[in-house]
Amino acid sequence: MLLDARRDRVVVLPASAWSVLCHADGTRDVAGVVAAARRFGATVDVAGAEALLDELEALAWLGDGAPEGLLEGDAQAIAPDDRRWVREMVAGRYRCDGRGDCCRSYPTISLTPADVHRVSAAMADDPMLAHRSHRVFLPTVGSAPTPMRAIALVDGACRFLEHDGACGVHRHGGAAAKPIGCAWFPTRLVDDGVEIRAAPVVECVCVARPDPSAAPLLPEIQACALPLGITLSRVPERVRFGGGREVDRSIAVATLEGIVARDPARALWTWSVALGQGEAWCGVPEGAAIEASAVARRFGEVAERARIRAELESTWRGPDDMVCRRLRLLAVAAGMLAAPSVAALVVEAEGDATLERHVFDAAVFSRSVLVGEDVARAVGDLALQMWLARATAAFVGVEHDVTLRETPLAAVAATWRAHRLGG
Ligand code: SF4
Repeated sequence: MLLDARRDRVVVLPASAWSVLCHADGTRDVAGVVAAARRFGATVDVAGAEALLDELEALAWLGDGAPEGLLEGDAQAIAPDDRRWVREMVAGRYRCDGRGDCCRSYPTISLTPADVHRVSAAMADDPMLAHRSHRVFLPTVGSAPTPMRAIALVDGACRFLEHDGACGVHRHGGAAAKPIGCAWFPTRLVDDGVEIRAAPVVECVCVARPDPSAAPLLPEIQACALPLGITLSRVPERVRFGGGREVDRSIAVATLEGIVARDPARALWTWSVALGQGEAWCGVPEGAAIEASAVARRFGEVAERARIRAELESTWRGPDDMVCRRLRLLAVAAGMLAAPSVAALVVEAEGDATLERHVFDAAVFSRSVLVGEDVARAVGDLALQMWLARATAAFVGVEHDVTLRETPLAAVAATWRAHRLGG
């Protein structure tokens, strides 16, 4: 399956096509590509390879020539003398229930080169890994090799996820054999200019039920010792809040920390609106009226986006897949919220107050809403997720996954991020 994430397009190809494409890296002519693919057992001829490449060219997916070097992706610039200790959100600790929902939720599961070696050693009896590793560890972009790899998905889930919900790599090689991103998931690290903070992304049922007496989210560690493959986001020195406007980082952090709210969704939306008007960097007005038509307008966009993503994901996951069911449900719920009268009701309704508070606290602790290009948008999106979760709870049935059934906000957050429902 080839995914064009920017244009929401998927092409599903026969498995042998990948053996052709991973050799079509700009270093061979078509006959050479076919010869290389045949070495891996692909039954393909020159005419078939040309037809495949013509199809991709028509989609504007072919580039000419080989890359000059390995495609590195974004470099992780952590100064080797940065000895700051990472500060953990202790209230974000949780106990994993081992049901593996998170291993089915995301379209990309990344691996570092060291992960590839550890996983291969742990799964030494896996014949596909031994003889067809190019079908298991895929480039994260394009067809040429990339240092970071993505694990192939099978039926929408990581191919190492076993039928009982356990991680096969963990089962065969122990926790230390797992990819670093999996071992550290769901911890998100953010440098706010003073401290490096670690808080969980609340996107599955176990993380949504915190237990401060559980094991720490991460080992005690200094910034310079963070392993390769762990992403460190940064709050920029000048925080951008939409329309090309900026504010100093210290003011942004102080305002975020100063939000005291009985209803986090209401406070976040009010702040987002004020930021959109170019103000509110020294306090968030509580109790301001919320314009339901503005909320409804955003939900109209979310509903359309969820519908498009549900259709796209169904082409390769199949309509009964967990992610497709989630997306369809969110499209229905967001579609209802696109009516201002319904949006007004949900804004005033009771949600899962404990979970909403936890998600809000994690966002404040990690400063995650301050790292992007548009803080007003990020803050407003968090409010929309809380309201969408309130509405979603009314539609959930036994056919839906446990995260959606038990902690809808966590399922909404995971789907929102993975499928960019905020646009
Ligand atoms: S490697 Fe294991 S923990 Fe990571 S996504 Fe796959 S099954 Fe889940």
